[in-house]
Amino acid sequence: MQAAPLSASARTSAHERMRSTEYDVVVIGGGVVGAGAALDAVTRGLSTALVEMRDWASGTSSRSSKLIHGGVRYLEMLDFRLVREALRERGLLVSRLAPHLVRPIPFVYPLHGRVWERPYVGAGLTLYDTMGLGFGSTRGMPRHKQLSRRAALRMVPALRPDALIGAVRYYDALVDDARHTMTIVRTAASYGTDVANRTQVVGFLREGERVTGVRVHDNEHPDPNATFEIRARQVINATGVWTDDIQDLVGGRGQLHVRASKGVHLVVPRDRIRSDAGIILRTEQSVLFVIPWGRHWIIGTTDTDWRLDKAHPAASRNDIDYVLEHVNAVLATPLTRDDVEGVYAGLRPLLTGESEETSQLSREHSVSSPVPGLVLVAGGKYTTYRVMAADAVDAAVHSLDGRVAPCVTDRVPLVGAEGYWALWNQRAVLARQSGLHVDRIEHLLQRYGSMTGELLELIERDPSLGEPLPGAEDYLKVEITYAVTHEGARHLDDLLARRTRISIETWDRGERAAPEAAMLAGAALGWDEDTVAREVELYLGRLAAESASQEQADDATADAVRRRAAEPAPPEAIPLAT
Ligand SMILES: Cc1cc2nc3c(=O)[nH]c(=O)nc-3n(C[C@H](O)[C@H](O)[C@H](O)COP(=O)(O)OP(=O)(O)OC[C@H]3O[C@@H](n4cnc5c(N)ncnc54)[C@H](O)[C@@H]3O)c2cc1C
Repeated sequence: MQAAPLSASARTSAHERMRSTEYDVVVIGGGVVGAGAALDAVTRGLSTALVEMRDWASGTSSRSSKLIHGGVRYLEMLDFRLVREALRERGLLVSRLAPHLVRPIPFVYPLHGRVWERPYVGAGLTLYDTMGLGFGSTRGMPRHKQLSRRAALRMVPALRPDALIGAVRYYDALVDDARHTMTIVRTAASYGTDVANRTQVVGFLREGERVTGVRVHDNEHPDPNATFEIRARQVINATGVWTDDIQDLVGGRGQLHVRASKGVHLVVPRDRIRSDAGIILRTEQSVLFVIPWGRHWIIGTTDTDWRLDKAHPAASRNDIDYVLEHVNAVLATPLTRDDVEGVYAGLRPLLTGESEETSQLSREHSVSSPVPGLVLVAGGKYTTYRVMAADAVDAAVHSLDGRVAPCVTDRVPLVGAEGYWALWNQRAVLARQSGLHVDRIEHLLQRYGSMTGELLELIERDPSLGEPLPGAEDYLKVEITYAVTHEGARHLDDLLARRTRISIETWDRGERAAPEAAMLAGAALGWDEDTVAREVELYLGRLAAESASQEQADDATADAVRRRAAEPAPPEAIPLAT
C-alpha cells in the first residue's frame, strides 16, 4: 500500500470532499484515540473523516511519558484486566503494528531493604512477564531479572550506593507518541479516510434529537465565518480533556465527565545520568520514571489537578523542583535546574471517579452515546488506544444499518512497518548508497520505517537536504521538508515540537534552528518573507512565555504567563450555534 502524503493540497482536497460527502463516520479529535478510531472505521469498510482543531497529537498525545506499557503499578491496584490488555497491545505494537516506532527498553527498579520487597516485586514481575506472553511471543521482551546491589550499580552507576540493597530489571517499550499518532493518521488516510488538521468542530448538525453531522471551522482561514458542514451517520468524539466542552456543545446532561491531571516531564542530557537502563522509582503520589530518549533522559512525572488552559498546560517552578527532588533522592550526583534542557507538561484525561486523588482515578476508558448519532470515548491510556478505538467504532456501527465487519486493526500495520526489518538489516547498504553515515540511516529508519526511501529520494534530488539542520544537528534538513510535504505540518511549532522534538532536546529549545527550519518549510509551502518571519516570531514568543512560566511558583501564575504567547491558527474561542 502506498502511504498517503499529508500535504497542504491533500488537506484542501479533503475539505472539498468533506463539504459534499455524507460519511458513515466522522471522528472529532486527532489525538491517538481519534486517529485510532478513524483507522478502525475505515478498515472496516466505512467511509470516514477525521478532523483536528490544532496539529495532529497537539493535545495529550504528544506529551506523555512515551511508554507503551502494561503499567506495573496497576498490578498493585489488582487491575489485572487492564494490565493484560495493555501488555497484549504492547506485544502487537512492538512486533507487528509499528516495530519501526515502538522499541523495548530495560528498566531497573531499585529495592530498599524491606525483607518482603524482593519477593513481592519479583512475584509481580513474574505475573507481568507471564501476562505479556498472552500475545504468543515475548520477542524482544526479555523476562525480568533479580539483580544484586553490585550488579544493579554496574547497570546504573548513577545510583547512590546507599539508595538500594539490590534491584529488579524488567522490560517495557518506548514510542515517540506524536510521531506514532501522526503515523496512524497517515495510515488512515492511506486507506481512504479524509483527514484535516486545524479544522475545529464548532457545532453539531441535528435532526430532532439525532446528531447528523458537525459544523467545522477552518482554523487556517482568518475569516471566523469560514465554516462548513460535514454530514455523517455517526459522529465519534475523541477529544480527551475537551470531552466536557463537546458535551456542552451538544447540550443536555453529559454522560461522561473527564477531569484533567497535569503531568510534567524534564529532559536532561544523557551524560548527566550514567545508566544502561531506565529507572522506575516510587513516590508518595505514584511513580517516577527516568526514561532513555536518544541522547537524553526524560524524567517524570507529576500528578496534580489542572483546571486552567487545556491547550498549553504550564509547568511551574514547583513542578520542576518536585521532579528534581525525587530523582535526586537516588542519584549519586544530583541534578540541578542548570541540567534541564527541556520541560513539557501534559494533561491526563481521567474519567471522574469517587476519589479526589487524581492518581487513584481509573485509567480505564468509557464509551457512551448521550444522543442518537453521537458516540463519546474517553479515558484510558496511550498504550490501549486501539482497544478504545475499536470499542467506540463498535458502538457507532451498532446504530448503522447493514452488516459491518469487525475490527481488524490488530492486523493492520502502520505505514512504514511493512519491510522495516529487511531495511534495518540493509542499513549499511543504504548508508553506502546514500552517502549518509549508518547512524543517520538508523535514525531515519526508526522514525520513518520503510518510508525512509522517500526521504533518501528527496536528498538525491537536492543533496543540501542531506545536511544536518543548523542548531539541531541530530536532525537532517530533509526531515523538515518531508514533515510539511508528507506529514501534515503547517507551522514552525508543528515542526519543532512534534515532527521533531527540537523544542525539548536542545539547550536553546530550538531558537537557533527556528530560522532555517522556517525557510525550509516556507520553500515547500510557498511562504513569503513576512510569513517566514512571523512563524519565527510566534515560535520565539512561545519559547519566551514557556521559559517565563517555568519561573513562576504556582499553576495560576505559570498559566497566566504562558497564555501571553500567541499561537499560529488559533482555534475559534466561541462555539457557533448550530
Ligand atoms: C504526563 C502524562 C504521561 C502519560 N504517560 C503515558 C504513558 O507513558 N503510557 C500510556 O499508555 N499513557 C500515558 N499517558 C496517557 C495518554 O497520553 C493519554 O491517555 C492519551 O494520549 C490521550 O489521547 P486522546 O486521543 O484521548 O487525547 P488527546 O491526545 O488530547 O487528543 C484529543 C484531541 O482532540 C482535539 N480537539 C478538542 N476539541 C476539538 C474540536 N472541537 N474540534 C476538533 N478537535 C478537537 C484536541 O486538539 C486534541 O488534539 C500519559 C498522560 C500524561 C498527561
